[in-house]
Amino acid sequence: MQDTIYDHLIFDNSRTPDTYFFSIVRFSGDSTIRHVNHHLPVSNAHFFTPPNGLELTWCSKAGGHWQAEILVEYWRGRATALKGDTLSFWCYTPTPIPPEPLPLVWLEVHGEIRPFFHLRLAVKDLPVRQWTYIQIPLSAHFDVTFKQKDGPEITKVIFSQGNLSDETYTLYLDDIKIGNVPQNQPITPPTGFSVVGHDRHVELTWAKIADPAMQYVQIERAEAGQNFQPVGIQYPAYSRFVDYIGLPHRTVTYRLTAVNHAYQPSTPTATIQTTTRPMNDDELLTMVQEAHFRYYWDHAHPDAGLALECIPGDTDMIALGASGFGLMSLIVGAERGFISRSELAQNIQKVLRFLSTADRFHGVWPHFLDGRTGKTVPFFGDHDDGGDSVETAFMMQALLTLRQYFDRPIPEEQEIRATITHLWETTEWDWYRFPDDPNFLIWHWSPKLGWLINHPLIGWNEVMIVYLLAIASPTHPVPAEMFHNGWASQNERAQQYRSGWGQTTEGSLYNNGTEYYGIELPVGVGSGGPLFFTHYSFLGFDPRHKRDRYANYFDNNRRISLINYRHCVANPGGFVGYGENFWGLTASDDHTGYVPHDPQNDNGTITPTGALAAFPYTPIESMQALKHFYFDRGAELWDIYGFRDACNPTVGYVSNIFMGLNQAPIVGMIENHRTGLLWRLFMSNPEVQGMLDKIGFVPD
Ligand code: CA
Repeated sequence: MQDTIYDHLIFDNSRTPDTYFFSIVRFSGDSTIRHVNHHLPVSNAHFFTPPNGLELTWCSKAGGHWQAEILVEYWRGRATALKGDTLSFWCYTPTPIPPEPLPLVWLEVHGEIRPFFHLRLAVKDLPVRQWTYIQIPLSAHFDVTFKQKDGPEITKVIFSQGNLSDETYTLYLDDIKIGNVPQNQPITPPTGFSVVGHDRHVELTWAKIADPAMQYVQIERAEAGQNFQPVGIQYPAYSRFVDYIGLPHRTVTYRLTAVNHAYQPSTPTATIQTTTRPMNDDELLTMVQEAHFRYYWDHAHPDAGLALECIPGDTDMIALGASGFGLMSLIVGAERGFISRSELAQNIQKVLRFLSTADRFHGVWPHFLDGRTGKTVPFFGDHDDGGDSVETAFMMQALLTLRQYFDRPIPEEQEIRATITHLWETTEWDWYRFPDDPNFLIWHWSPKLGWLINHPLIGWNEVMIVYLLAIASPTHPVPAEMFHNGWASQNERAQQYRSGWGQTTEGSLYNNGTEYYGIELPVGVGSGGPLFFTHYSFLGFDPRHKRDRYANYFDNNRRISLINYRHCVANPGGFVGYGENFWGLTASDDHTGYVPHDPQNDNGTITPTGALAAFPYTPIESMQALKHFYFDRGAELWDIYGFRDACNPTVGYVSNIFMGLNQAPIVGMIENHRTGLLWRLFMSNPEVQGMLDKIGFVPD
């Protein structure tokens, strides 16, 4: 399942204000079309849905050709089988255009370009300087059949050269959708409207709207209470909007209207005024923590109480590890007063009921669960239908932290502690040993396919916590020697594994010792790898003041963070924007897919969680990045759940999603930097000290 709007949407607004990344412009001969780096220009002056629209400016010459492809945006889990029988969009021309030179419209359906439709057939006399709604029935013009259960899989709409003309024409396009011809149903304005001014942005909230007649909420802003201008829209899945103004000390007034599927607005709400105000560093940290916390609180799955893989995305697919990080952020939320302790306790009871009945494989949960049923979702393919020891460890790290947080002698908290202890003690870590070499823990086990995926856990990377928990288990432990003979093994398999990932033999023996950008790295592959290696296992495990026979991991993590920082400052790839306040290479969504960025695998993508979850290691460099992301890039990056997943200014890309794996480490690691809360709670588990002793950690 996905939110209904994404069953229809091709284009509404561009997140980048100059060019639209998800478009491709081609031209030949003497024909011309305006473009920026072969993308369509974005118009911030001409739009139907605020804040922007697309500009199509062309001249069609004999022997030449032009076309503009507008792609259906893709993200993890998005179904592109759009539902409806009509292609619709809004268009606007500043000057008269005769019918003949109007463009042709094509669709790419199931990977094939479908025969064109001449726009003149939809609109014979296009009105000048007013928005016109165009509706084109699919079956009559594009030979699109509806045999598929879910509707046609449409991946592009294409505008191309129509009849020849010596003139240059401009058509602004907006709100391109596949849908059915809408009913003009009456609609009431939103209720429960409130606004809060922050440093550079205003946050607007209202009561969630369930009325199926509503298409979106339109947000309007006025200065000095006069002359309201539309600034944005929000869909029914959300009841929150961020208006990034860019300056403190600005007094602004807002009102909302609900807009139905026929684009008719309700009456507006009453108006509310607010003023943005400068925030000190402490207030900025809290603001960032609260926004990212909301991903896991406001947008948790309603039945499971756990986190979605990405937003937008599949509305029922729970990501287990991301949910573990999210539960950590909820503890921070309760401690900082974003929610109450009893609200958190009630939610955790729901979470534990879900986790207790969800699929487990020898006590180990799968990577993804259906939030409605608790059944495994084999998102990575049919073979991924069993337990995932790494995702389970990320969840267990959080559950053990919660068990220490809920320490009061009241029935509600006693029940939480008892349920977590049961889940912990029924997790069969010792089942997840690699049959070929039982020194290694293994990532997956499937009831049908056994250990087919065959992925042993070999450090150094993000999965250290699996070994720590498996060794700490009071009921299904593995020998502590596996930390040395598996995780830190120097055997041939381990060396090959490390050099395969790192594309270098540096660090293939677990120990490294090479200097990168003037910093020696004690442990790690290549120049340390993506920054999430230093975050996921360390949300709960406190690496300070201790060392094993290889490293002090706080110091090692700090070195990895500084190498990553210095790489971005040096910027050997010459990427746009890189510098001392724009850094942080780690795994994220980017313009090519989900990529584990690091100094050796750098395509110009900066991921905010890279620098911000590094706060305990690099407080000065992380604060520089936070301020730059918010003060200078906030218009593109800052939104209702904090910073968007990633951006790449070199190619003009800003991620269209927030990611479950990346939002919460920001909350938890900023808290560990500020108060050490999660570290203190996790380390207070009685099983932890024994594990440290068995592995051979000593004070440092
Ligand atoms: Ca728009």
